[in-house]
Amino acid sequence: LTKPDSLLAYINDATGLRLPDGHFIDGGFRAPRSGRSMQSEDPGRGEAFADFARGNADDVAEAVENSRKAFALWRRTPPAERGRILARTAELIRRNSERLAITECLDSGKPISEARGDVSGAARTFEYYAGACDKLEGSTFPLPSDYVGYSQFEPVGVTAHIIPWNFPISTAARGMAPALAAGCTVVAKPAEQTPFTALLLAELLFEAGLPAGVCNVVTGTGIEVGAPLVSNTGIDHVTFTGSVTTGASVMRACAENVTRSVMELGGKSPVVVLDDCDFDGTVTNVAGAIFEHAGQICSAGSRLVIEAGIHDRFVEALGRKAKAISLGHGLRSPDMGPVNSAMQQEKIAGFLDRARERGAEFISGGKASSDPETGKGYFIEPTIVANRPAEDELVQEEIFGPVLTVQKADNYEHALQLANCTRFGLVAGVFTGNFTRAHQLARDIDAGQVYINEYFAGGIEVPFGGNKQSGFGREKGLEGLKSYCKVKSIAARIG
Ligand code: NAD
Repeated sequence: LTKPDSLLAYINDATGLRLPDGHFIDGGFRAPRSGRSMQSEDPGRGEAFADFARGNADDVAEAVENSRKAFALWRRTPPAERGRILARTAELIRRNSERLAITECLDSGKPISEARGDVSGAARTFEYYAGACDKLEGSTFPLPSDYVGYSQFEPVGVTAHIIPWNFPISTAARGMAPALAAGCTVVAKPAEQTPFTALLLAELLFEAGLPAGVCNVVTGTGIEVGAPLVSNTGIDHVTFTGSVTTGASVMRACAENVTRSVMELGGKSPVVVLDDCDFDGTVTNVAGAIFEHAGQICSAGSRLVIEAGIHDRFVEALGRKAKAISLGHGLRSPDMGPVNSAMQQEKIAGFLDRARERGAEFISGGKASSDPETGKGYFIEPTIVANRPAEDELVQEEIFGPVLTVQKADNYEHALQLANCTRFGLVAGVFTGNFTRAHQLARDIDAGQVYINEYFAGGIEVPFGGNKQSGFGREKGLEGLKSYCKVKSIAARIG
């Protein structure tokens, strides 16, 4: 694996990696109606590595129609049977984990260790919702004795899932699994940069016993596939994960048809570090919060807000850690892989160049880079920028790369004010040994979730979603399952 030219040979020969080249519709791979294909790049080499189907509105219409027909059957499938199929899917994901992880690594660029984590997380997601299928309990209402009143959960119907390129299999799983558990059917559109693992997941679901048409995947661009999907009148619910700008346009399409939606949008999450934190553990956590998947995580901790007393020593230690991070092709298991595309690399480098022109002080990194072994790929050095004022664009805008800004806080109130100073409200991290201050910050920071003393703490059991422009609705946990349900109330006179 040290020779990148042998990577494809390795994949083809050693693991039997087989990449689908059609949409997954009605239980099988279908050629696109347009007869056209697109290429997916391996960001670690900056080269195309496989073709996939370029869908259009006709493919979307076919998938939605199949999904509608399949809904009539799937909603009546006993919950316990739905659970068994999802449990078998979890098992099949585990059995195919290396194939899925290598595919994800090549398609998204993330280090293979992170891709393996995403795949095992996807299996866990299916396992979690498998167990929840037959536990969707309604309520009874205290009416006078001549009446009974109760509620029950019903599936919302045909659900559309628009998936971004940063967590292709995780995002597909966290939408598909609860939707299917609730009795809904699925039409998913993965990002055009990372189409493969969603297709493979749909195939595994079918292999696990999911009836044809219940889970469909159409690949292609946002304009040619995403837009006709979210505005299709056969869709009852849209789960959109992506940028604020695209999310706003998807919301407009949903408004036209009064379609329910969950919006998982961008973030600019603060990591608040107080003087009394566990120093070494916090340095490691803060570095992981921004450099994991090269900062291309909606919930990345991209703003360090740090109390003055610890500031200098902490920033110095963090800078040392950033400089020691190894870059390389994801299959070689580096500390940090590439960013996803030439466009992302250019966009991030633009932020850094403008900051340099404004006189920003770089503690580490600051430039575009490449794989040190091959000179190829779309890399950005792990970057820390000191002392940025709250109104600076590096602090306010989602960079979606390995770029951390540092802001010094004079006291608790100032730290809180800085933590809340952007239009986003997805996640926040808090690091302190003081129980009271930790929970005060958790109470006062406007974010969908707060991690205390471990960044990215929690799993599929914990609901996840945004406040402010980070979106609305919740995925994961039982909240995520309820997103795919309608509550029906029934009241009867029995006297
Ligand atoms: P993006 O908005 O460009 O694309 C997301 C998806 O939307 C892609 O599949 C794309 O093809 C599709 N799309 C584009 N135009 C569309 C349209 N008009 N109608 C329907 N679909 C359309 O986002 P991206 O650059 O792929 O992903 C990065 C963004 O996603 C970041 O802002 C990140 O924070 C966000 N994100 C959020 C979460 C979360 O859970 N909150 C998770 C991951 C990523």
